[in-house]
This record gives sequence, C-alpha cells and structure tokens, in this order.
Amino acid sequence: MAQYLSIKSAQPDALLFFRMGDFYELFFEDAVTAARILDITLTARGEHEGVPIPMAGVPYHAAEGYLARLIKAGCRVAVCEQTESPAEAKKRGSKSIVRREIVRVVTPGTLTEETLLPARQGQALAALAFTGQGEAALAVCDVSTGLFELAALDPARIGDALLAWPLSELVISEGDRDRPALAGLREIAAAPVTERPARAATAKSGEAHLKEAFGVAALDGLGDFSKAELAAAGLLLDYVKLTQAGRPARLAVPRRAEPGGTLLIDPATRASLEIDRSYSRGREGTLLAAIDRTVTAPGARLLAANLARPSRDRSEIEARHDAVSFFAGERAALTDVRASLKSAPDLERACMRLALGRGGPRDLQALARALEAGMLSAAILKKSGAALPARLAAAADVLSLAGLGSLRALASDLAAALVETPPMFAREGGFVAPGWDAALDEVRSLRDGSRRVIAEMQGRYAEATGVSALKIKFNNVLGYFIEVPARLADPMLKPPLAQDFIHRQTMAGAVRFSTTELAELAGRISRAEEEARALEIAVFDGFCARVSAESETLAQVASALAEIDVAAANAVWADEAGAVRPVLEAAPVFEAKGLRHPVVEAALRREGKGFTANDLHLDAAARTAPRFLLVTGPNMAGKSTYLRQAALAVILAQAGCFVPATSMRLGLADRVFSRVGASDDLSRGRSTFMVEMVETAAILNQATPESFVILDEVGRGTATWDGLAIAWAAVEHLHEQTRCRAIFATHYHELTALASELPGAANASLKAREWKQDLIFLHEVQPGPADRSYGVQVARLAGLPRSAVTRAAQILKQLEAGPSASESLPLFAAAPVETENETPPEAEAVLAALRAIDPDALTPREALALLYELKALGKGES
Ligand code: ADP
Ligand code: MG
Repeated sequence: MAQYLSIKSAQPDALLFFRMGDFYELFFEDAVTAARILDITLTARGEHEGVPIPMAGVPYHAAEGYLARLIKAGCRVAVCEQTESPAEAKKRGSKSIVRREIVRVVTPGTLTEETLLPARQGQALAALAFTGQGEAALAVCDVSTGLFELAALDPARIGDALLAWPLSELVISEGDRDRPALAGLREIAAAPVTERPARAATAKSGEAHLKEAFGVAALDGLGDFSKAELAAAGLLLDYVKLTQAGRPARLAVPRRAEPGGTLLIDPATRASLEIDRSYSRGREGTLLAAIDRTVTAPGARLLAANLARPSRDRSEIEARHDAVSFFAGERAALTDVRASLKSAPDLERACMRLALGRGGPRDLQALARALEAGMLSAAILKKSGAALPARLAAAADVLSLAGLGSLRALASDLAAALVETPPMFAREGGFVAPGWDAALDEVRSLRDGSRRVIAEMQGRYAEATGVSALKIKFNNVLGYFIEVPARLADPMLKPPLAQDFIHRQTMAGAVRFSTTELAELAGRISRAEEEARALEIAVFDGFCARVSAESETLAQVASALAEIDVAAANAVWADEAGAVRPVLEAAPVFEAKGLRHPVVEAALRREGKGFTANDLHLDAAARTAPRFLLVTGPNMAGKSTYLRQAALAVILAQAGCFVPATSMRLGLADRVFSRVGASDDLSRGRSTFMVEMVETAAILNQATPESFVILDEVGRGTATWDGLAIAWAAVEHLHEQTRCRAIFATHYHELTALASELPGAANASLKAREWKQDLIFLHEVQPGPADRSYGVQVARLAGLPRSAVTRAAQILKQLEAGPSASESLPLFAAAPVETENETPPEAEAVLAALRAIDPDALTPREALALLYELKALGKGES
C-alpha cells in the first residue's frame, strides 16, 4: 500500500490504474468512481487505518474499452505499470515488491489509440495563455497526428478561435482562472478544462520546452514567436509531457497561424450555419455531412478542418480549386485514385503511435499499405493525360517516393516481413513472415520439430504402456504432460513403467505423467519460443527505428494522401450536387446564379422533392449591385434558406470546395456573420432579447467592408416596436457605416420602405401565390418587397383552429385600415368571434343527408351505398 499511496500522490486528480498481474486495480475513491461509471463490482481488500479499502479492477487485456468509457465520462486515468518482472524483484531480495511506475496519463485531449479516437474526427488539445500586458495566444496540437499550431489572439475573440478546432481538452493556467476574458469559457469550449500551475505558462517555460522538444539550442530556427505565443506553447508542451510520463511531445515544428489567414467565424455563426455540428451537436444535418465524400480517415479530418477554418489566402484557395477542377475533368483518374485510396489506412496516427512507443505490428502494416496506396495513386495521377495542377503534382511527387530510396525500401521490406494479418501488439508474436529472418526461421523450425517429435511420442508411449487412450496434452500450468484415464493408470504407477513415467497429478478421471524425454523437449520448445519472441521484437524494434528516422517524410506522405483524397472527394460531391468552381474576384462582390442550399436540397431530394435555385448579386462597393438586400415574404417561403445558402457558399468557396450554383463570382470575405433572431438561449441564463442584442452588437462592432453578413429576423424576440427600432438601426448601420455585403430577412414590412430609400440597399421578396384560400410557396426570389405578410394564411396551413384564423383575418383587416385603427382594437378584450356562417357548406350537406335517413327502411346494400354517398358529400364532391 505504501507504494500505491506514493504513486497516487503524484497524480491526485487522475484515477490510478495500478497494474497487479493481469489486472489494473483501483483503490479508495478511485475504485468507487470507476465502479459507478463502468458498472463493475466494488470489492474490498485489506484495511487502511482500520477501514476496509474499496477496490475495483479491470482485466488488463480489455483495459482499452474501460479506458474509453472513463475518458468519455470526463475522467483522466494514470496508467501505472510493473516495470520489472516478479522474478527480477526477487533477485533484489525475497521481500521486495515489483517496481511500478506511471507510464502515461490518459486524458480526453491526448489520445492516440485507434479504439479511443473517432477515426474521421480530429482531436485538438489547446492551451490558452496571457502576458502581463494582456496579450493572449493559443497553442493547439493533436498528439495523434503531430499537428502543432500557435496563434496570437484577441482576448475578446477567444470563443471564435477555440470553436474553430475540434476541441477535446483545454489547458489554462491556474492564475487565469478568474480572468474576465475567460468568463463563460467552460460552456463555450464544450470540452474539459484543465488547470495547470502558472509557472508552466510563461515565455521562459515555452522556450525551454520548445528547445527540448525539437532538440535545438536556440529558437531562431523554429520561428519568431511573441511572448504570449511562447507562454501558450510552454503550457501546452508541459502538459503533453506530463501525460507522456515525462517524455517530451512528438509534434511537428509549430506552424504560426497568419493573423489574416483564415476566414473568421464566430461561435454564434458556427452554430446557426450548422457547418460541422448541428443544433443537436451531432454531425447529421450539417454542411460537412452533406458534402463529405472522402474515403480515408485523414481525408475526412482534413476536409473537416478546411470547412471549420476556411482560408482567406487567395492562392491557397485557388490551389485547392485547381485540384478539384483537375479531378472534375479527369473522371478515369478520379475513379482509380479513389479506389487506391480506399485501401490506405490511417498513416498519420499509425506513425504517431509507433513514434510514441505505443504502436504494434498492425501499425507497421498500416504504414506499408498506405505507402503502397500512395505510390499507386501517384502513378495514376502521373499517367493521366491532363497537366497536373501544382498542388497535385507536388503530392504525386512525394507519394511516388522518387528519390526516397530508404522509404521505398522500408515499404517493400515491410510488405515482405509481415504476415497477412498481424496482431495488435508485438508481444503477441507471430507477425514476422517466414523467410524474413533466418535466425527466426531456425528457432521456429526447432520448435516445430520438437512439437512433431512430441506428436510421434504419443504413439510410441501408447504402445509401450499398452494404453491406446494415452494422450500428450498441454496447458499453461503443467506445460506438456501425458494423460491416461484413471482406470488404466495403475500399471504406470508401478515398476517397471514407473521408472520412466513420473507421476505429476491425479485428477477425478485421469492421471497425468511426465518423462525426462518429454520434459527435455518441452524445455527446448519453450526456449525456442522465447527466442523467437525476442527475435520478433528485435525485428519490430528495427522497423520502428527506421520509421522514426523517416518521420518527417512520412508526415509529408500522410498529408499528400489526405490532400488528394479531399480534392477527389470534392470533385465527386461537385458532380453529384451540380456544384461549380467559384471565380475569385478582387472586388468585394458576391454574384451567384442558380444558387442552392446543399443541405436543404439534399434533404428535399431524399423526399423526392425539388429545390428552387435562386440568384443573388451583392457588391459592397454598391457599384454593380446593392450591398444590402432586404428580404421579405411570408413565413415558410424560404427566406432563411436563401440567406443561409449565401453564407454557406462563401464558406464552401473559401474552404476550397465548389459551390452549388450554375456560376459564382466572389470577392473573398474576412469574416462571415450569421444571426438568427428569437433563438432561445435560456440555458445560458440570458433572455432572448439580451442574446439578440449582444449578437447584433458583435456584428455591428466587428464587421468590416470585406465581411459577409446575414441577419435573419433580428429584432423578433422583443415587443414589436422595440424590435422594429433595433432592426431599423441595424440596417442603417450596416448600410452606412460598415458598408459590407449583407442580407437581412425580416417580417417587419415597415423596413421595406427604408430599403428603397437607402442608395446601396434593395428589396427582394419570396414569391407566394394564394390559391383556393391556401398559400403556395414558389421559393422564388423576385425584386421588390413582398406585398403582404400572408401570416394569416400560414396560420391556417399550420392547423390553427378555424375560428382563430377567421378572427385573425378580421383583426388584420382593421390593422390594414390604418395606423390609428390599432388603438381601437380590442386586443385584450375577449372579442366574440362571429360563428353564424362558420359551418362549412360540406358539413351542412352531410347533416341534411343524415337527417333524411330512416335507418329501419334500409337494406344492408343500400346502407353501404349511402355510406359512400355521405363520404363524397363530406369531401364536397357532389
Ligand atoms: P422562412 O425563413 O421564409 O420562414 P425557410 O427558409 O425556413 O422559410 O423555408 C421553409 C421551408 O421551405 C424549408 O424547410 C424548405 O423545406 C422549403 N424551402 C425553402 N427554400 C426552398 C427552395 N429554394 N426550394 C424548395 N424548397 C425550399
Ligand atoms: Mg425564417
């Protein structure tokens, strides 16, 4: 227990998995927590200060599944292994206990196991640090792929930056716990927040950790980092090192995010556009789910990253578009490349596991297969007729492994050295193929030879003893032994047979023996097995060293594979969805013809319904088109869809994808804003009105002339005149001050007058037609304001009681009669609804027919005919 307590004290915040033989045991509070979460039995063992010690255990070979559940439940787990064998411990003295050490702390943000990580989703561990001057920076890494990025940060924009990553865990300094900038952070981050001592979050710590992790004496070669960036890097690397039990992180050299490099999307916009997470927090119904056609896990992660952090760098975006265009034009290459990529395993994560010493033979095989798939893809690309765009040419060069002889050799050696389906862990053995290692082949044949001799022995012994039922068997306790049925064993227990057959064990129905000859052979087999295992481990270690030496090139290969997968997948989606390449412009325009909403369109298609495409033309300079469009139309007419498809097109285009339109010209945006009025945010304890104000204020304060803004029914969450006033002011501000491209959907008809007065603004509306008292939505956008709101008809569609609809129509008529009429409205007085003519004519007809029936005079046949007649009357058909 003393050993346990001292190890536990090093990791008080983590559950301690304490290795004892074939189990990880948990004690005290840890046992109680784990038993509750894992639903395993809580037992007790010994006593501590007079009280029984609660204990729970999980078998070590099944530990990953239990780990996964604990991590999901938000726990961290310190894994403590035996670092010597019981035999070694005995050598140090008969009473010594086996040495144990924490080898790793498993946390939600530092996973590398295939079974613990969702394959198609990234994992981001982020650290946030501040300087005394109030500067902030964010360091982000993915320990399963080696990604490492640093960025300066506006302390007011922390949420924007964090939500751009698939955040699994956030590290902050204890000293920053109460910083106003971090208020509400835990909810925004939607990931566990870990606090670390303040001394880790300093520029000095960052410098030391960076130097250690990259083995450099000075930072100059890595880049020019600010104090805040260094502090964030220090906090992050210090934590990663802690979780790796003191070994420094294996990460790529940190990339410094360019301040203006990405399209900024704030949390409210992300949520309302459902880019990679829907309102219900899942993937379904998102833009990402609608367009993702990737065939590899790293490709899926890259596409998700592109959509989550679209670019603002024109040449980068053009390069991505070029690659998609290539595949769109080369159908044969597209099909073949995707077929070869399909068999490419997750190279990024396999390499990282090997580098961290957590890999196994299966990871080596993954690496070999990925390299093969890469070479095949490169060959397909190079022999396709059309000229390769620069991005794909570079990827193909890397993947062909031209000039990378050692990597080529590694790939072919692995293919020759590994069996078809290797085990997960090297210690299981049996993964080196015959013919690869002569020494290994020799011990294996020795072992197999001895096994054969044993098999022959059985016949020989049966003859010698006259017991034909004699068998030679094997178990883990006795090893090899001879077994005969108990009733035939007697002669063997007496001389002369007893001279050769040594009694081992008497069972209920059988007696077990050994012989010197058998013991010798068994010894030979077990020595050979041990030797074989050692030789296999040596082969494995040799390959790991070669992989480690190639880690940089392997990372390039991995990203080339992902890049090709994404470009090809985007071409496939573009073809399915009828998407085209957007033309990037220097002018701040947005001009789309036949634009569609990719998610709504796909959903409608599944129901067999069509989607009405619409045009949109905006120009922030208000030269070729208005910069501000005010969209009106009845509820359900398609206003929200029209607004969102525009914002999504900006995101798709800048992510490097095509856009669902017949043509599109786009001046790159620096930020996209989307706000939906009347969204309920009561869970965060703010009234809807407050939320709307905060969100609208954020746009008015942050948007620039390059921004793209959609405002959907802002001002709706409040009393009519307040809402109208706010909407009015927002329209004026966006038009006069911000002067950016913006679309505003509103049910405030009054605003349409404003739009026709502002020089850079215009009205548009969604067509609807009344037909037989019903409203037909054409989902078609036309210039000019909607002529009326149609609210009453929509209410009827929604199934409001007929009397309420009639009453609403009355009130509407009075309202429309003039503004003064509203004062005379008996809004709160119970207004009796006229009911005289309320019964519809069909009902009258049915009633009349019913009254005329004499049931006693009807034959069954007539009754049936009458029933049909009544039914027809009810439908108004006669
Ligand atoms: P509004 O914001 O005007 O109330 P929405 O944009 O929410 O209307 O659209 C309501 C529904 O109409 C959508 O869920 C969709 O099914 C359908 N819809 C919207 N736009 C289109 C369109 N362009 N083509 C076909 N159906 C559409
Ligand atoms: Mg709407």
